[in-house]
Amino acid sequence: TIARLLGPAEIRDLAELLDVTPTKKLGQNFVHDGNTVRRIVQTAGVQRGETVLEIGPGLGSLTLGLLEAGADVIAVEIDKRLAEQLPHTADIMQPGTSLTVITADALRVTELPGDPVRLVANLPYNVSVPVLLHLLEHVPSLESGIVMVQAEVGHRLAAEPGSKVYGAPSLKAAWYGSWRTAGQVSRMVFWPIPNVDSVLVGFDRGEQPGTVEERRATFALIDAAFQQRRKMLRQSLSGVLGGSAAAASELLVGAGVDPQARGEQLVVDDFLRIARVAAGS
Ligand code: SAM
Repeated sequence: TIARLLGPAEIRDLAELLDVTPTKKLGQNFVHDGNTVRRIVQTAGVQRGETVLEIGPGLGSLTLGLLEAGADVIAVEIDKRLAEQLPHTADIMQPGTSLTVITADALRVTELPGDPVRLVANLPYNVSVPVLLHLLEHVPSLESGIVMVQAEVGHRLAAEPGSKVYGAPSLKAAWYGSWRTAGQVSRMVFWPIPNVDSVLVGFDRGEQPGTVEERRATFALIDAAFQQRRKMLRQSLSGVLGGSAAAASELLVGAGVDPQARGEQLVVDDFLRIARVAAGS
């Protein structure tokens, strides 16, 4: 049965009870379909007893699904009204389960009461990439995750070099591991209905290719390369590599990268090699 998850009637009642008008600014679109929730929890492969991090639990649609699967959930919600209600909703709908709610901006969270191994979230769409990168940086216990994001963003995260949507988010995400799209979600399962489509994106953390300092340098190069996406690297990186196209070319050649290539042809290891050569020069 889906009586222990939130359907359209429960979503409407809770919103009314809390006097919540969903805001665009906080990306508040709430899922009112139990089948979608169960599909996300299943796709994520949530195991009984494991600690799961959820960002933006909202009225609790996905939270209840995670609790139903037996996860210990740590949920970070920026909206105080929603955060305060959530434990009550969980007590009524999924009694006897383990939930810790933190009222905070996910972009500022650095310490959590536990070591979540999995991230499962329907992310606020305007900050989904920064939130993912922040969590991968600051929550080292996270090994994998399934998140729902705007379709366009999901395809960027999972893009391969040479693809039209391959860009800075694809490369930065790849620093932390491997990414894949894991199915579409209809906009009809949300209230209010968003004007974009959604996809599920999965990741598995990999070996970190370099140090924290090297990551910062690599990300700065990636940003520079994609600020001028159509330009060759010797041009787009000239500002950050030696101050001229000639100096940049020399460093690029030293890193084994064609100075006439464009950022979209490179993988994250290429940018890391450039960062290393630049640091040693
Ligand atoms: N998980 C719920 C669901 O599936 O119905 C709600 C998802 S809704 C797309 C995004 C949620 O993230 C909202 O509850 C919103 O208040 C919250 N949120 C927005 N920005 C946030 C931030 N920076 N940190 C934490 N939560 C945030």
